[in-house]
Amino acid sequence: NPTSPNSCPLTPLTFLERAATVYGDCTSIAYNNATFTWTETHLRCLRVASSLTGLGIGRRDVVSVLAYNVPALYELQFAVPMSGAVLNNLNTRLDARTIEIMLRHCESKILFVDVHLRVLAQEAVSRFPPGIRRPVVVVIRDGAHERFTESVSLVPQSDESHVNDAESDISTTYEDLVEKGDPNFQWVRPINEWDPITLNYTSGTTSSPKGVVHSHRAIFIMTLDSLMDWSVPKNPVYLWTLPMFHSNGWTFTWGMAAVGGTNVCLRKFNSDDIFSAVDRHKVTHMCGAPVVLNMIANSPNAKPLENPVHFLTGGAPPPSAVVLRTESLGFVISHGYGMTEVAGVVVSCAWKEKWNRLPVTERAGLKARQGVRTLALTEVNVLDPNSGLGVKHDGLTQGEIVLKGPSLMLGYLKDSHATKMCMKEDGWLYTGDVGVIHPDGYLEIKDRSKDVIITGGENVSSVEVESVLYSNPVVYEAAVVARQDEFWGETPCAFVSLMGKANSEDIIKFCRERLPHYMVPKTVVFMEELPKTATGKIKKFWLRDMAKNMSQS
Ligand code: ADP
Repeated sequence: NPTSPNSCPLTPLTFLERAATVYGDCTSIAYNNATFTWTETHLRCLRVASSLTGLGIGRRDVVSVLAYNVPALYELQFAVPMSGAVLNNLNTRLDARTIEIMLRHCESKILFVDVHLRVLAQEAVSRFPPGIRRPVVVVIRDGAHERFTESVSLVPQSDESHVNDAESDISTTYEDLVEKGDPNFQWVRPINEWDPITLNYTSGTTSSPKGVVHSHRAIFIMTLDSLMDWSVPKNPVYLWTLPMFHSNGWTFTWGMAAVGGTNVCLRKFNSDDIFSAVDRHKVTHMCGAPVVLNMIANSPNAKPLENPVHFLTGGAPPPSAVVLRTESLGFVISHGYGMTEVAGVVVSCAWKEKWNRLPVTERAGLKARQGVRTLALTEVNVLDPNSGLGVKHDGLTQGEIVLKGPSLMLGYLKDSHATKMCMKEDGWLYTGDVGVIHPDGYLEIKDRSKDVIITGGENVSSVEVESVLYSNPVVYEAAVVARQDEFWGETPCAFVSLMGKANSEDIIKFCRERLPHYMVPKTVVFMEELPKTATGKIKKFWLRDMAKNMSQS
């Protein structure tokens, strides 16, 4: 019963208290040349939480954060809910209009903003119509704390020069809140473990953004589940290449406190920054969308690692060719599937020892499958669209992937219609993803329902065609969408960016040698770089529109 009072509510916030006791002297955060210990992080979070209370923030108020992966963003993952408020991590790649819509939708009271994103935040807030309450803007500024000294190697050129203090009405900074806060603050515990802790707007790969609300209980469970499923040991060194705003860093924000890890923070990065951070901090773990794997795999300065680094990828299908290339450098790739609505990774490709004896290409193919439910927490099934029953486990019959388990969202904020559309009364979440289940019980995603191409009555999985394209050594990125065709209805249209030389005929010939005829792209469009969503996924809807316009011309 979600409303029943609970005397000992589950919450991930307790991990921080424990970290201060158990791992007090260990490094919690490393950023440029500065480091913090878990004792310091605990006290700083208490101080910020107390300052938020002082500003009038209370239970269920929404506090938003728009920041790159800087230490303050990490601290706010604890400090905001410790004030009783709901944490709203905002996507840093959104435009001012979308941010304004989100801030108004959730009636955000405070907006913490990275100084590098201040112009964007001010633009968003200045769009509020008169009479609508604007959030108070608090700036996160590196230089304000002398321990945050900028280092040349890890931080790209600052765009702080665009910021003009005189024009702004901002008087409080993040460090002010730390300084003025009370380190003995009695943080605001949830009354009930079903109380909301986070609000995340979906990145809108498929539709307009919706506000996903999660409970303390769901996040607590997911944090432990993610750590155990990935076998994260005590004191890992975790490099933040996954944006913390992306489904709350798949819960590894709270997870690092649970295991006393070191959070290596990078404001922005390229492949060189990754390799130098791995060397310098002796990184053991990192996460990222396949786009980050691709960046590593194709880095001109890629070099074999001294020690293995565990890399959990997800958010989009990782092409097996990219998995192969990064593994040859010493990255140990794990693959997971999840979504904002289930608070992170709930299906993962649990690896079997015996698979290590298989040829590399076969191994990479197995790793590109999404896998099985993590530690039996979330049930997963694939339903036949006609009968509504589970499909045969034959690796061929496709259906819609459904999920059910304790990390499911409470619902979409102020949108009961959308909530009902995807969360059915039987407790299953209908994902809109299309998949198959193999005879060994492992799930493989074939597509999002919107991305399936139907050509002459045959279903083509865009993911399968993309995987072949990625195995071509000259292809850097690839995405396949439907193009309207008078005769076939639709035909596959490939968008590719190259790192070598090739023309359309070369690409088509390459596919023809490896795919059934009907799956081979009929059109190839070359681009310098494929367009990406804010979470690093290729914007298929955008490419679909482009393909549509091509057909009309
Ligand atoms: P959005 O729906 O806005 O992109 P999410 O980040 O929540 O926001 O994305 C969830 C979706 O990403 C899933 O429904 C699925 O389509 C895709 N996805 C996530 N992980 C994987 C994966 N490992 N393989 C293939 N697709 C994935």
